[in-house]
Amino acid sequence: MRLGKAWSSVDRGDDDLDRLAVLPFQTDPSANERHPRLLSLVRDHGLSVDDATDHERVQRQIHTTARSAGIRRAPCVPMAAMNSITVLGGGLMGLAIAHQLARRGRAVTVLSRRRSEAAGFVAAGMLAPHAEGLQGPLLALGQASLERVPAWVARIEADSGLPCGLRPCGIVVPFTSAAERDAYPTAAWGLALDRAALERELPGLGPRWRHGLLFAQDGQIDNRRRLMRALERACVALGVRFEEGSEVLELLTEDGERLRGVRVRRAEGGEHTLVASTAVLACGAWSARLLPSLPVHPVKGQMLSLQGPRASLERVLFGPGIYLVPREDGLLVVGATSEPEAGFDPGLTPEGQKQLQRGIAELLPEAALWPPMERWWGFRPGTPDGAPLLGPGPIAGVWLATGHHRNGVLLAAITGELIAEAITATGHGSEANAALLAPFHWDRPQPAAPAGHRPPGARASP
Ligand SMILES: Cc1cc2nc3c(=O)[nH]c(=O)nc-3n(C[C@H](O)[C@H](O)[C@H](O)COP(=O)(O)OP(=O)(O)OC[C@H]3O[C@@H](n4cnc5c(N)ncnc54)[C@H](O)[C@@H]3O)c2cc1C
Repeated sequence: MRLGKAWSSVDRGDDDLDRLAVLPFQTDPSANERHPRLLSLVRDHGLSVDDATDHERVQRQIHTTARSAGIRRAPCVPMAAMNSITVLGGGLMGLAIAHQLARRGRAVTVLSRRRSEAAGFVAAGMLAPHAEGLQGPLLALGQASLERVPAWVARIEADSGLPCGLRPCGIVVPFTSAAERDAYPTAAWGLALDRAALERELPGLGPRWRHGLLFAQDGQIDNRRRLMRALERACVALGVRFEEGSEVLELLTEDGERLRGVRVRRAEGGEHTLVASTAVLACGAWSARLLPSLPVHPVKGQMLSLQGPRASLERVLFGPGIYLVPREDGLLVVGATSEPEAGFDPGLTPEGQKQLQRGIAELLPEAALWPPMERWWGFRPGTPDGAPLLGPGPIAGVWLATGHHRNGVLLAAITGELIAEAITATGHGSEANAALLAPFHWDRPQPAAPAGHRPPGARASP
């Protein structure tokens, strides 16, 4: 007999054999000893338990064997805990990962404190690894994600029946001098524009911009009005369970090392413990509240939108400290302030809104006259180096998908794929994906981050 996986269980004193299940852990011989009854059952009946992916078959075998042995009471875990994955946070990352896990046939529960506070509903939706001037492994991750976006969006649209608002419209980055343009970290990926070419691409551009780079491969998606909703609907269609209004208060562990559950406060009141052996921490800017060793902090951003004439701007315009993102219906999304010093202070500020207004006047003066439609704010999950924390976390069983800072919309496609693949891997994950993931381990060395620090990729305000 081979016993490739250890056994564990939660003895709920339940004598309903239909609930009898096994929970495979990573090999831990001592766990076998802790559950001698189940182990002897396995031994006595010659079961082989070496395939971590075939839990259902194993469960059926044990179930049948237990019945025929006349066992009416056995160690058990709730079925939901077996093989199922708990996603903490129902923002963009939580949804993207839940969707990918559900597509791989896994049972998923999403615990979400408040849907409306997610940065996924705040972002401008730029898909901009080149316009943002990303560098090194973050640029590679961004490019890999950008490449996957069309197929990812098509899948969400097919699963949900809803459009996601993808617009591969290109992004123009304007500069005041050719030297500044040529020194831009991603200049090699862009098409250099002079003033005449800039005017053709962006009629009405402010006079101080004499040079530019066109990144035709970058684009945008309507995360706020479309993508988030489509992802939610796709998840529901694939059987993902949502617990909206459930705040995770604490991760519960066995001896501080392995996840055994989460303590949750539900909207209806009362605190509960949920059994969980595998969870994904996707709590955005709030992630360090659950795992204080994570270097994640809030970076507040204020936004507004203007209603312009339809097709007044065809490309996204990405200036220093300000960008204009034209939706198909003429709505112009304007962002964004970057306020790490604000912590979790909610609300708009006159200074933040004035900064956006000044930026509009500099980039596209005529837009300063267009009527404002909406103003809002949110919290980016920042990290000192501006890159996400992805992969296994400091507690076994807890996976991380947080710290996406300014690029979470761009990185959602690749994050969903990498994390779902890593969690469900049976050793067959692609080497290329493992190499993409490796640089984003949570405890990599980080630069000291002074207040107001601006990570690579974020252009300074004018
Ligand atoms: C102003 C602004 C503009 C942006 N523009 C862009 C852009 O143009 N392009 C781009 O790529 N990215 C952009 N981003 C970044 C992007 O929005 C984020 O990186 C991304 O949304 C992060 O996703 P997330 O799932 O980690 O966090 P979120 O989307 O914030 O979701 C986190 C969720 O976790 C929940 N939660 C937190 N704590 C708990 C708890 N204890 N229990 C249960 N639930 C919990 C919250 O309620 C929230 O719903 C922008 C962000 C901002 C703020």
